[in-house]
Amino acid sequence: MAALTSISLDGTGTDERTWRAWLRSRRCPTILPQQVLRDAQRLVVVAPHPDDEILGSGGLLAWSAHERCPALVVAVTQGEASHPASRRFSPADLVEARRHERREALCTLGARACHVVELALPDGRVADHEARLAASLAATFRPHDVVIAPLPADGHPDHDACGRAARAAAAATGIALWHVPIWVWHWATPGDPRVPWTRMRRLPLPDRIVRRKRAALEAHTSQLTADASTGRAAVISECLRRGASRRFEMLVPP
Ligand SMILES: [Zn+2]
Repeated sequence: MAALTSISLDGTGTDERTWRAWLRSRRCPTILPQQVLRDAQRLVVVAPHPDDEILGSGGLLAWSAHERCPALVVAVTQGEASHPASRRFSPADLVEARRHERREALCTLGARACHVVELALPDGRVADHEARLAASLAATFRPHDVVIAPLPADGHPDHDACGRAARAAAAATGIALWHVPIWVWHWATPGDPRVPWTRMRRLPLPDRIVRRKRAALEAHTSQLTADASTGRAAVISECLRRGASRRFEMLVPP
């Protein structure tokens, strides 16, 4: 067997045309938003950084808002480490800017009533606080919640830690947890054995929700523009952006 390449979050990532062709050929089973939210009294999205709730499950969040299902975003970090050594943004600037971007994005999504609870764990070092995060999540989850969290194999250390902590908290509380791929679309290639492709379900999104999701992502301006002071490219790569623009979302069921 060929050796697995190491995960890189830099560069341009895997081309969207490659993903679309492969995903089309796989005929992944479909699940509808109303099936995911069936019997849910609240949708809870565990977001490692401000923007992950849109990238991974913005469509489902918009759907829940449309159906008047209450929603909560658990903001694990404040995203203060997205621009290291930048002269454009200090970490404190980023906390403020990204909080504002998140609020604007949720409003654009139609989810103005969505609550946000900030845990303010250190951006980039969530794994150092994983047990504390799992305890916080277990204390937050309620019976009849449906919870969304990144895959434990999403490839970004903070996302992986959030995926593992959510899995532990869901097991302890008996609530339904769905995992979503976010960074997978950047670093992986079709069929990568580290990703649970065979368990994934395809959640089709109505056009009006796709439009809202695309517009909501545009609110995250700090993540969508290059930083001339460091020469770094936009944090949200083109393939993450295109992956979040699809007419469907992919989820791994409980
Ligand atoms: Zn993230």
